[in-house]
Formats: sequence, structure tokens, C-alpha cells
Amino acid sequence: MDGSEFGNIPREMIQWFPRIDTEKCTQCGICAEFCHQEVFISNDETEVANPYSCVVGCTGCMSQCPEGAISFPTLAELREMLRRLRDEFPEEDGHR
Ligand code: SF4
Ligand code: SF4
Repeated sequence: MDGSEFGNIPREMIQWFPRIDTEKCTQCGICAEFCHQEVFISNDETEVANPYSCVVGCTGCMSQCPEGAISFPTLAELREMLRRLRDEFPEEDGHR
């Protein structure tokens, strides 16, 4: 998926980004090295610093984490969220 298919929906309204389970995370930094969107910062601690830079629908970093510490909403939850947001932020070009 890329940004263009989300029409007028502001990226900040789409709650799609990784969450780190701090109980499981060992601060290895693999996720931060893997993601090219600079979603993570990894200094003393690895954190989700730029959640809305995450590519909507991508879960690439999740399978890279050796501790299983990264999670996302399900794709069903994403679809439902986008359905609601499309109603809230309709296209302006007559496709209503
Ligand atoms: S899902 Fe993709 S874009 Fe989002 S943080 Fe992980 S690797 Fe980066
Ligand atoms: S890859 Fe997993 S364990 Fe390593 S820093 Fe990222 S979240 Fe933590």
C-alpha cells in the first residue's frame, strides 16, 4: 500500500504503526536497522519515534524481531479503521 490510496485521510488519523512490548524487547536495535522509514530510534532504548512514517499495511519489522516484541493491529482492524475514516474524510472529486 502507499499513501495515495488513502485519499483525504490524514496519515495521523490512521493508527497503523508498530508497538514494542517493553517486557520482551532486549534493545537489540534490529528493527531500527531494518526499517528504512526511520520509524524507530535506537539509542539506549529502542522506541517508536515516528509512528506516522510507518507505511500503512507494512509489518516488515515484526518478523525481524527475535523476541516477538513488535505487534500491529490486525489487517481486519485496519480495513475497518479505513472504512470508518473514508466516511469521515470523503474524496472531493465526486466519487461519493
Ligand atoms: S512496518 Fe515497515 S515501515 Fe513500519 S516500522 Fe516496520 S518496517 Fe518500518
Ligand atoms: S528488534 Fe525487537 S528486541 Fe530488538 S530492539 Fe526491536 S523490538 Fe526490541
